[in-house]
Amino acid sequence: MNNLTINDILKSFKLPLTHERKALITKAFDFAQKAHAGQKRRSGEDYFQHSIASAKILADIGMGSKTIAAGLLHDVPEDTNITLEEIKREFGQEIHDMVEGITKLGKIKLRETKEEYLLENLRKMFLAMAADIRVVIIKLADRVHNMRTLQFNPRDKQLRIANETMEIFVPLADRLGIGEFKAELEDLSFKFLKPKEYKNVKNLRDTYYREGEKFIKQAIRDLEKDLKKNGIEYVRIYGRAKHLHSLYLKLKRYDMNIGRIYDLIAIRIIVPSIADCYETLGLVHKKYRPMVGRIKDYISLPKPNGYQSIHTTIFGPEGKIMEIQIRTEKMHNEAEFGIASHWIYNENKKKRNWRDYFRPKETFSEKELVWLKQLREWQTEIGKDNTEFLEGLKIDFFKNRIFAITPRGDVIDLPEEATPVDFAYAIHTEIGNSISGAKADGKMVPLDYKIQNGQMIEIMTSKTNRAPNPKWLEFVKTSIARSNIKRNAKKPEGENS
Ligand code: MN
Repeated sequence: MNNLTINDILKSFKLPLTHERKALITKAFDFAQKAHAGQKRRSGEDYFQHSIASAKILADIGMGSKTIAAGLLHDVPEDTNITLEEIKREFGQEIHDMVEGITKLGKIKLRETKEEYLLENLRKMFLAMAADIRVVIIKLADRVHNMRTLQFNPRDKQLRIANETMEIFVPLADRLGIGEFKAELEDLSFKFLKPKEYKNVKNLRDTYYREGEKFIKQAIRDLEKDLKKNGIEYVRIYGRAKHLHSLYLKLKRYDMNIGRIYDLIAIRIIVPSIADCYETLGLVHKKYRPMVGRIKDYISLPKPNGYQSIHTTIFGPEGKIMEIQIRTEKMHNEAEFGIASHWIYNENKKKRNWRDYFRPKETFSEKELVWLKQLREWQTEIGKDNTEFLEGLKIDFFKNRIFAITPRGDVIDLPEEATPVDFAYAIHTEIGNSISGAKADGKMVPLDYKIQNGQMIEIMTSKTNRAPNPKWLEFVKTSIARSNIKRNAKKPEGENS
């Protein structure tokens, strides 16, 4: 494996590389490299290679220099002697907060569960605790690299991590619209969870793709010529193979009959404007006969997750069936990088007049989850706003709930203003009854303390006193605490008999 260097990050950086940005990335690089010095990963490579790789992935999807700096530093507090305080002193509050968020998320134990509503809670909690959307994106980049190097771990860990990735991180990437992360995480999980099926599907696809390759190349050449002749300045035109897990799911729906899958190979045409998209569609159909009922206009009618493109299935060179996907560059970046794509647009919009072909998406179905809706609304907001709207973006859509963690990493979901007594009863009645003190993030707090989102709460219990204090009723917030206190409180003198 080739060792990555800072140049790999700088080369991938999508925004204009100003002196200031370069200086920040370099500073974080040197700082983290020193902090991780001497540490190795299971693969035998330097630990710091993981930090560089994560930062490069962030650069690849167009994130800014602060996020990349936080990506380089993301494992420093957890795995080295350097404290978060020192990171704050060196890099300021904003980068400190991101690194702290990642460190906190790393402590959560994502319990294995098969129940969809529990999984959904875990995903929400993850987003809520991250507080800043960039923290989730860094966490995803970290996971992408960990999945790429998962083979160096023992089998049981491979299965646990792959399962967690499939259940938590793939849906998160999907909700954030980062198709690039979603597809890679999904295919890597698939490889470890179902190795036999993975191999079969991969062989099937690769064979099919190899056989079809010369037709794709032929079609690309023909279409390029037609586009040029008609004055359409396409941005890019290329063939893409379908991702393996989505192919696997589709094959299962079609009795494993690969002949019935028409989007196995596709040609993607990226053009400057929406008008160009429709003009290109006309040219494609003039050149190749379209298959009836296979034209899908997701530009006029975007998919629920906001996806926009025109798809059509055609009989290409020598009658070979293939799918053509036509989209603008903005639609393409949104499909691949989702919420992250807005960093690119915020800073590069002067160069490309993307506003000319930007249309806010306002069509949301009632069935969509509230938090997804909110994410989409942000994206629309960001499109309207010139400032770096996302820089300080906070995830605050669980206004009435907070999530606290036990020292073991279990997540406890509580109403706002809940206290350590509520927390204790949420764990177990006996712990609630015998609570004698509490710590929040390692510091002693009173029993009526209002727990903050994301805090780690440690409960101390008394061995002798197992009766709750009726005074607690004045501040507890949950009904489970309330009813237990009433039931188990020491009765006033004289009533015991
Ligand atoms: Mn990491």
